[in-house]
Amino acid sequence: MQHNWSHYLRVIIALLTGTTLIGWAFGYPLYGLLSGLIAYLCWTLVQSRRLYYWLANPAASDEPPRSIGLWGDILDKLHKLHRSHLLAEDRLRAQISRVQESTNAMRDGVIMTDARGVMEWWNGSAEQLLGFKRSTDQGQFIHNLIRTPAFKAYFDARDYRDPLEIHSPARPHIRLQVQISLFGEDDRLIVAKDVTRLYQLEQMRRDFVGNVSHEMRTPLTVISGYLETLVDHSDELPMKWRRAINTMADQASRMEALITDLILLSRIETGEHTADDTQSDPEALIRQICGDARTLGRDKHQEITVDINDHRLLKGDEGQLRSAFSNLIFNAVKYTPAGGTIHVSWSANRDGAHFSVKDTGIGIDPVHIPRLTERFYRADPSRHKDTGGTGLGLAIVKHVLINHDGNLEIRSEPGQGSEFICHFPKERLVERLPEPQAEH
Ligand code: ADP
Repeated sequence: MQHNWSHYLRVIIALLTGTTLIGWAFGYPLYGLLSGLIAYLCWTLVQSRRLYYWLANPAASDEPPRSIGLWGDILDKLHKLHRSHLLAEDRLRAQISRVQESTNAMRDGVIMTDARGVMEWWNGSAEQLLGFKRSTDQGQFIHNLIRTPAFKAYFDARDYRDPLEIHSPARPHIRLQVQISLFGEDDRLIVAKDVTRLYQLEQMRRDFVGNVSHEMRTPLTVISGYLETLVDHSDELPMKWRRAINTMADQASRMEALITDLILLSRIETGEHTADDTQSDPEALIRQICGDARTLGRDKHQEITVDINDHRLLKGDEGQLRSAFSNLIFNAVKYTPAGGTIHVSWSANRDGAHFSVKDTGIGIDPVHIPRLTERFYRADPSRHKDTGGTGLGLAIVKHVLINHDGNLEIRSEPGQGSEFICHFPKERLVERLPEPQAEH
């Protein structure tokens, strides 16, 4: 039976009063009280010793030592506490093993690391997809096991909004999509998904488009050639054929432009060009394209201004950069009415290098902006016939920027004009070597 604290106090007082009374009966009340206190102290010492040994080695027996009175009560309460702890521990252990079982059953690789990338736990699929071994890799840095520089850069950047695609370090034919999430105290949960099939399909699609475009180019060149000859001699043709021949020639040249862009896009996408080890001169490139644009837009009396604030070189493929820059500048010419202004600039700051094309043209409705870089997406489909565009220009720009670790920013307001900015990382800027001195 359990009592409250004042009951036990009353029992102790009664006990001491009893021993004092017995001592008093023998003429020594103080000795009686003293022996009562000593007896209680001894009892307390014996009980605390039992409790001490049980606490020091609780696993030896689940049951705490039994006793009576205040000590019995204390030991009972401890027993209950101990049992509820054991129960909570069991429940937690069961939950953890359930979570581990379910993550083990997942097809995706799941890895837990701390903030520095030390491997703490991973599931069975991570072993299969990434080749980790429980016996040797526990406690290793994940960067030592996935050695792709892009993965280290992704891990350290802490910007995990977009996933990263890499080849599996253990089985290079497996393509993985890796996504990191932060949890706990800056720990990382890494999920690796096998996207080999999707990657192969995407590759097939690119190859298909590239091959079809190549195959179509030759017959189209022949058709265009004959059409051009017919146009040159259109005076000799009957009136009713002239319009038809001219329209056919226009459409053939549109198709040629389309095929040229498709081939270019598929080359850029399949990474036929390496964009890292060559250097190009953005200043010369921009001035040249603006010169061409002035010629193109001569009839529209547009003002094209150029502002170059940085004279360093840019690591990258000149052909690809030319395509991207000229697409943006020629778009500005196309979508800016007569008399408008186009401002082209190249600058650099702490964040990197920036190529901007700002026009006072028709502008773009904000609803279209997120989709503009999709192939054949047009903000105003009714207008594209007048401009003669292929609908692939901005897709080309996007892929060129991906190859150069850059990104495209689009700012626009309908009727007010647009600004297209290509951002490049500062690591891509390189100093020009001094011109060699001419020997006298
Ligand atoms: P297109 O060949 O049709 O110009 P792009 O991919 O170059 O294809 O551009 C996609 C769409 O983005 C265009 O159809 C047009 O609606 C819009 N666009 C691109 N540049 C501009 C600009 N400078 N001003 C207004 N709209 C633009």
